[in-house]
Amino acid sequence: MKKLFYIKTYGCQMNFYDSEKIQDLLKPMGYILSKEPENCDLAILNTCHIREKASEKMYSDIGRLSKYKKNKKLAGENMIIAICGCVAQAEGKEIIKRNKDVDIVLGPHNYHKLTSILSKKFTRPVIKNEFDVEEKFNSFPKPSFSGVTAFVSIQEGCDKFCTFCVVPYTRGAEYSRNVLDIFGEVKNLVSLGVKEITLLGQNVNAYNGKFDFQNPKNLYSLAKLCSFLSEIKGLERIRYITSHPADMTDELILEHQNNSKLMPYLHLPIQSGSNKILKEMNRRYTKEVYLKIVEKLRSKIPNIALTSDFIVGFPGENKSDFDDTMDIVKSVKFAGSYSFKYSPRPGTPAFLKKFDLEDNIINDRLNILQKELNLQQKQFNEKCIGLDMEVLIEKIGKKRNQFVGRSEYLQPVHIISREDLIGKLVKVKIKSLTSFSLHGKLS
Ligand code: SF4
Repeated sequence: MKKLFYIKTYGCQMNFYDSEKIQDLLKPMGYILSKEPENCDLAILNTCHIREKASEKMYSDIGRLSKYKKNKKLAGENMIIAICGCVAQAEGKEIIKRNKDVDIVLGPHNYHKLTSILSKKFTRPVIKNEFDVEEKFNSFPKPSFSGVTAFVSIQEGCDKFCTFCVVPYTRGAEYSRNVLDIFGEVKNLVSLGVKEITLLGQNVNAYNGKFDFQNPKNLYSLAKLCSFLSEIKGLERIRYITSHPADMTDELILEHQNNSKLMPYLHLPIQSGSNKILKEMNRRYTKEVYLKIVEKLRSKIPNIALTSDFIVGFPGENKSDFDDTMDIVKSVKFAGSYSFKYSPRPGTPAFLKKFDLEDNIINDRLNILQKELNLQQKQFNEKCIGLDMEVLIEKIGKKRNQFVGRSEYLQPVHIISREDLIGKLVKVKIKSLTSFSLHGKLS
């Protein structure tokens, strides 16, 4: 019998990847994806702990699902509610305590257990939050997904312990998948039509995977892995995210220089330009080290696009610390960036720090920073006007005969063509810019 499932994904790309894997697990069980939760047999929330008020948002969504579940009960039907991801890991039993309608709670290393849980009758809620990352990766089904681009998780967890971040507590210690498994997954994706892969990891450039289980001492760095994957025929582009400056090795910089499949784009979060704040954050580098990396990158790959993350208003940040951040932004010139107001996460060391900066001061600083970052992004995009850029066409646009793809620098590019270009790498002469999208003509 046809069964419907709904999945809502919060937060980072890693979570979106996990949600795709959950879908791959459920399809052979006869579940069909539904866009709305109301009439589903199974409703899943794949939660994230990074953004502000993550658990409140999750509890309010559970409340909504709970109403649908009650309506279904009145009609003599059931809805299973499953909570997965980092908030599930952090809150565990508390979720069931706060809402008795929740049936399953799975930490991020446990969602592969969903099929065996669903295939049995269960009368009591099931909670699984072990750190079984190796087992999880080994139980991935072959993806049925087909598209032009895909994410591939290669590393999970983090040993860095930045004082504001919950990842080391919710995703556990760093774990790198073995090289041959990743190679197999990418090869399979390419056979399904994928042209570009983004290698995912919480600390992706700390990747240090075994070649296979027979060769435990033969370890591959991210640079070596990229080089190996680029041998796959039909794979056109490789990206990776998210990197830590402390793991930005010369070997990886050289790989960017020598491997034409590795895109000239790097997201390298700095978080703050103040050495005092970087120390408080336990980021393990100084602004001078960051600038040195940028210098090396630009000397080897002059066209590389750099993006970053910033946290504004971290406990102890004063005017001069913020000025240091603005100085580094002005000196690096980013192609785009994410910036957020600091928000304390329970369970992290920074949560215990005195946090007395007034909200209006933080908002003012964030506005100043975002204005500069938006200007830099606009300037970066404007420089592309008149260039012939290589664009990988991913999908149909909103207008007639319009196609949308991505440049090497991940900018969305719109073109008009009567020919179906999806999946093709085409040369586009960039003519104009609207907001953050480029528009051009086939050259
Ligand atoms: S490097 Fe820091 S911010 Fe990134 S996942 Fe690890 S602890 Fe979190």
